[in-house]
Amino acid sequence: MEIRTDTARSLVDMYCSANSTSQELYAQACQVFPSGITHDNRFLSPFPIYIERASGSKKWDADGNQYIDYWVGHGSLLLGHGRAEVIEAARAQLDRGTHYGACHRLEIEWGELVKELVPSAEKVKFVSSGTEATLMALRLVRTFTGKNKIVKFEGHFHGWHDGVIAGVKPPFDIPSSPGVPQAMLDTTLLCPPNDAESLRKILEQDDDIAAVIIEPTGGSFVAVPTRDGFLKQLKEITQQYGVLLIFDEVITGFRCAPGGAQEYYNVTPDLTTLAKILAGGFPGGAVAGRADIMEYLEFKDSEWNRYKKIYHPGTFNANPFSASAGIAALKIVSSGEDIKKANELAQKLREELNLVIDKHSINWCVYGRFSGFWIFKGNECDKKPSCDFQMCEYDHALLKVGGDPALGASFRLGMLLNGVDISPSIGMTSSAHSMEDVDKTVAAFDATIVQMKKEKIIK
Ligand code: PMP
Repeated sequence: MEIRTDTARSLVDMYCSANSTSQELYAQACQVFPSGITHDNRFLSPFPIYIERASGSKKWDADGNQYIDYWVGHGSLLLGHGRAEVIEAARAQLDRGTHYGACHRLEIEWGELVKELVPSAEKVKFVSSGTEATLMALRLVRTFTGKNKIVKFEGHFHGWHDGVIAGVKPPFDIPSSPGVPQAMLDTTLLCPPNDAESLRKILEQDDDIAAVIIEPTGGSFVAVPTRDGFLKQLKEITQQYGVLLIFDEVITGFRCAPGGAQEYYNVTPDLTTLAKILAGGFPGGAVAGRADIMEYLEFKDSEWNRYKKIYHPGTFNANPFSASAGIAALKIVSSGEDIKKANELAQKLREELNLVIDKHSINWCVYGRFSGFWIFKGNECDKKPSCDFQMCEYDHALLKVGGDPALGASFRLGMLLNGVDISPSIGMTSSAHSMEDVDKTVAAFDATIVQMKKEKIIK
């Protein structure tokens, strides 16, 4: 791998010369899409790269550049790109039809696997995305309890529908998107993460709360870590106040353990939302949970069906293509081997990247758990090197944005120039990554810091 640093040229100059085809494609895309992109996290100044093919831990772009990939399909590819068993299952399904508009055997097998793996899953219902899953979960808890409000934690992300858009990004009192009626926002009560006392106060003062929803390992998977012991405390508090508990395991599901964070931490929520790995890299989502809550999706007599049952259509629910890939993926994941491998590589990356940070004496730090690593740029705390990030008390608004947001774009350009595609702050490993990938990533990180120092972007 060529290491690219240059005293005479800037990161932006070098990036533009290395990616002229992507630059042209972006100009074309800007005529079609707002800001030329189809997912906000893909926005990159001066332009993003355009990927043409992916395999294992790698991706190749339109200019022929190779990258080690730490986006891993927004977290859906724990098994890496193009894992043979998953692709084979999807390919075989293509010949048998992609949409039956009918019930089929695969959806049963897929649902049974979710039930086997996920402790809270007494019943399962498939949807098409993580956003749809949390939408359904909120409707279920409101119907079951007859109450209207939801408590969510500041910095936790549960998709982009109206019911969960409050308090995702700092400043947390401003919704993460305009266009949501105030009446809807008023149904979402915000609690600082890891704060049992504030949660108790919220639950004490309001008897119209249906549920508490949480990303069990913390906001953005690992950015704002959930402190050890908090999930157990959360379960006790929700039980004590008679509100339901939803684990949003869209990222953590099948990644922390075959049964998700709830298996790993031995805390069983009332409802669980799933997506990403669930469908083996294809679109899909699910809600799973207590049978007496899921019952509100059932058909019964006409009175119940018209007044009590939650209406649930959805063109692509449990589509056979996603089901076949999902079954193959969950069967592999169930052994725990791939999870273990991805976790070990992420641990190695966290250690090695922190050594580079120390070498350059910059105020960054890399932390995380499982197969996630969070690169925090601009750490002013004085706890290193004895820091226990799991009990980190640093400002959660700063943790959530990864420190100084102005550094994110330069960091990305530097990493891309050196063969690594990673978001401004979070990386996730897959079981297709290797120690060689780790070494190359560490070298790319080092080169990026050297270049950012040369350009006086960092001191
Ligand atoms: N919940 C969590 C915890 C997520 O990480 C995401 C996606 N990153 C979602 C919900 C939304 O899922 P989707 O993008 O499939 O709508």
